[in-house]
Amino acid sequence: MDLYEYQGKELFRRFGIPVSEGRLATSPAEARTAAEEIGAQVVVKAQVLTGGRGKAGGIKLADGPDDAERKAEDIIGLDINGHVVRKLWVESASEIAKEYYLSATFDRGAKKVLFMLTTEGGIEIEELAARSPEALARLHVDPLEGFQPYQARRVIYGAGIDDPGEQMQIMSILERLYRCFVESDATLCEINPLIVTPEGEVRALDSKFTVDENALYKHEDIAAMRDPEAYPPEERAAREKGVTYVKLDGDVGILGNGAGLVMSTLDVIALVGGRPANFCDLGGGGDAQGVVDALGVITADPQVKSILFNIFAGITRCDVVARGILQALSEITIEHPIVVRFDGTNAEEGREILAEAAPPNLHVEPTMLEAARRAVELAA
Ligand code: GDP
Ligand code: MN
Repeated sequence: MDLYEYQGKELFRRFGIPVSEGRLATSPAEARTAAEEIGAQVVVKAQVLTGGRGKAGGIKLADGPDDAERKAEDIIGLDINGHVVRKLWVESASEIAKEYYLSATFDRGAKKVLFMLTTEGGIEIEELAARSPEALARLHVDPLEGFQPYQARRVIYGAGIDDPGEQMQIMSILERLYRCFVESDATLCEINPLIVTPEGEVRALDSKFTVDENALYKHEDIAAMRDPEAYPPEERAAREKGVTYVKLDGDVGILGNGAGLVMSTLDVIALVGGRPANFCDLGGGGDAQGVVDALGVITADPQVKSILFNIFAGITRCDVVARGILQALSEITIEHPIVVRFDGTNAEEGREILAEAAPPNLHVEPTMLEAARRAVELAA
């Protein structure tokens, strides 16, 4: 789960990583009040779950309450990479002498936390990694040893930070960021930029924070940070119903049972020249209600033009899935053509049930390849 900048900064603050004072605002009037309370020059920052806000005009300095209100008017409603701004973070403005970059990520290959630190902050890190990889100091932390002070020194020297005051502060930030990362079950904590003020104070000016979804049960406070309005309606419905749903950008909606089967269905759609709009995994169950829920989620995606139902029944039974499809069709209006391929347990019974009911928009195909072709044709 991705957190907003202000939520990530709240976690940073709890772990003692220095951040600026700020307030959340959802209207220009609130931005004005926030600026009055902070009482100095402020920066008004769009809160959206995407990066590059600065370039998109989502971050503006303001001279005082009047100006903060005006800047808030400009930023609210702005579309940043498909995310419409509804919330602002109004923060005491910082003077910036230097912009560094610091992140902790989970390196799955190494099975370790990876720190990256560079003095060339403020820019996209992928860009820097490609252009001058030697400028990026990297450090893996062994989870059994934990984070050691000598490692902090190594990564700081590696990045070429030679000011003793900065070294001291970054030492402590690294140690705290490691604790913050591990204790929050994060998969990413990125500070870009980590700034040095003209007085030599080091502070996190931005936060990109991702927490492992599967660990949220351990963190009620972080789980409560989820903003349902940040997700499209079908993703919200999927989460509420416990349906595994992934949005893609083609026009064939895919429903299958089991991750492996769903992945190969995506491949077969591509093979016959189509593009999946999304996919839902019914998992091992595939009971009638599960089918109803999944079809509801898939058809809520406006990009879907046809639906491919690919079931290979082992534990699942095709007759149960067939009844689920008919139940869904009786409960929700589905105008999209639906192509069904059944194989495995009770496939024949499943096909018979569908043939008897014979809904006009339902097409049964004998193989995965033929079903994929049909679904792609019907989407055209
Ligand atoms: P991003 O564009 O989404 O990564 O948003 P950031 O929070 O990183 O802000 C982008 C840029 O805006 C930073 O790199 C800074 O140059 C600038 N910026 C943000 N906050 C302040 C501030 O308090 N003072 C000044 N002078 N610049 C700021
Ligand atoms: Mn940034």
